[in-house]
Amino acid sequence: MEASLGIQMDEPMAFSPVCDQFQADDSIKKCEQNFKLSGVKKDIEKLYEAVPQLSSVFKIKDKIGEGTFSSVYLATAQLQVGPDEKIALKHLIPTSHPIRIAAELQCLTVAGGQDNVMGVKYCFRKNDHVVIAMPYLEHESFLDILNSLSFQEVREYMFNLFKALKRIHQFGIVHRDVKPSNFLYNRRLKKYALVDFGLAQGTHDTKIELLKLVQSEAEQECCPQNKSHIVIGGKISLSGPAYKEQNLHTTMKNKEQNLHSTTKNKEQNLHSTMKNKEQNLHSTTKTSVKRPYTNTQIQIKQGKDGKLIKQSKTMDVISRKLATKKKAISTKVMNSGVVKKTVSSCPASLTCDCYATDKVCSICLSRRQQVAPRAGTPGFRAPEVLTKCPNQSTAIDMWSAGVIFLSLLSGRYPFYKASDDLTALAQIMTIRGSRETIQAAKTFGKSILCSKEVPAQNLRKLCERLRSQGSDTPKLASDIQRCPSHDSTFSDKTDHKASYVIQRSQVQPSRDSLYKGDNGCEKHFNENKTSVEGWDEVPDEAYDLLDKLLDLNPASRITAEEALLHPFFKDMSL
Ligand code: ADP
Ligand code: MG
Ligand code: ZN
Repeated sequence: MEASLGIQMDEPMAFSPVCDQFQADDSIKKCEQNFKLSGVKKDIEKLYEAVPQLSSVFKIKDKIGEGTFSSVYLATAQLQVGPDEKIALKHLIPTSHPIRIAAELQCLTVAGGQDNVMGVKYCFRKNDHVVIAMPYLEHESFLDILNSLSFQEVREYMFNLFKALKRIHQFGIVHRDVKPSNFLYNRRLKKYALVDFGLAQGTHDTKIELLKLVQSEAEQECCPQNKSHIVIGGKISLSGPAYKEQNLHTTMKNKEQNLHSTTKNKEQNLHSTMKNKEQNLHSTTKTSVKRPYTNTQIQIKQGKDGKLIKQSKTMDVISRKLATKKKAISTKVMNSGVVKKTVSSCPASLTCDCYATDKVCSICLSRRQQVAPRAGTPGFRAPEVLTKCPNQSTAIDMWSAGVIFLSLLSGRYPFYKASDDLTALAQIMTIRGSRETIQAAKTFGKSILCSKEVPAQNLRKLCERLRSQGSDTPKLASDIQRCPSHDSTFSDKTDHKASYVIQRSQVQPSRDSLYKGDNGCEKHFNENKTSVEGWDEVPDEAYDLLDKLLDLNPASRITAEEALLHPFFKDMSL
């Protein structure tokens, strides 16, 4: 298989091992199940202990979701006369920043409850434990149903997603993490709900007051001298116990959920924990940003009088919440090569002694860190997010919706799977074209250099080919992975201060790639897929809409409001 772009492209789903080769026998499975059950039971007990008032209202039945930042439980409650009501209880990790928590809650309370945006019923707090109670929506696993959906169902799915996005965008909420697991879909009831505002940010004119505070967090990153802060892998977390406490206080009082009170001590603790971690990161990675699993080096270069920090996806974690969970931190250390140093002056030129070598020179070490919000999941990130364009808008959510649509039309999920932003960008180029990507990046002030050119693909042909190919047909990658270069450079054109250089001395197949399932297990294709209702005659409008969603230029990308009026949805009403 030819890999390229200098970016590691690994096997498509077609090459990944068949899961059941590794199937455990029954007794091991049972054992695992029991183990899991007792784990869940313990977690439920712990939650009752942490927030005792829950026990007077809810019967917690099961754990239905566990992420880095929260655990979600299914509970029942006798809230009104009549049968028990099903409730989802989202327990945020205690180290979440109070402003983040409050902002998430405010998104749900202000914009939620209609137009496919999840609402909130109650919120409970004891000390630093916060539990958000929401109506429970039973939902499908996207991967499980992807290849059995009729074309009409896909249309309805997308329509309802745009309805939710239109709603939140009207409130000036940028969700930043639009992906199937955050858009709940109950196929039988045809119900949909956009959830998880844990990464949301506000537009400049957002109607969500607390998102203004979240945003100022990002702004402070640009002017670090304004605030005492901790830097971890390029992200700055708030410190300073008095941080907008006043505002938060008043807002939260109204909700009778005073979230700020416990944060002082906690933040201090966190502070020192983070500092130590930071030091660790420093010492382990200072001289090299070499990745452990490949022989390749990535350099991110930036301009004058600043720092250089190579970011990785796990660093977003820090900007989202002050996570101290061991799991999050250790991933960080493993995945990220962080190089940070402050030097008072250095040349502003884009290239230097280390250009196209496997070293990072002192000039580069002194370059300023480029800061822009980068939250989200790499495969769903828009090009302007991947290139760290500082002005990001609601258009980033539309790109993510486009990636979901691409999965629905091609029958592949996840469609893009990249462990870092540069790989993700390279993967986008293989679909949308390198020239086109470079051109678009110019419009938002980024310059990307690629040594090879890859053409844009015809979206219909691409989706039809992927849809018609079973996962046991190990061919598609070579078609799709006609990747450009071994060297790519991004630079910040606006101030000529920044540039990134990706340089891959060796190109070899890697473990990250397009079309591969999360756990290495792919979904087997239904051979008769094309005969499933409607798939034999997908109208041009579908690909026209896809094209407008995957517009590389955020300024011309279709909005949610416009998408709802697109001819693809012609006979559907709001
Ligand atoms: P996280 O920030 O940890 O991703 P989410 O809010 O996305 O938390 O919730 C995680 C998972 O929990 C979701 O992907 C979904 O499966 C489940 N979930 C969340 N809210 C609800 C709800 N209201 N009803 C049913 N399931 C939910
Ligand atoms: Mg989520
Ligand atoms: Zn250099």
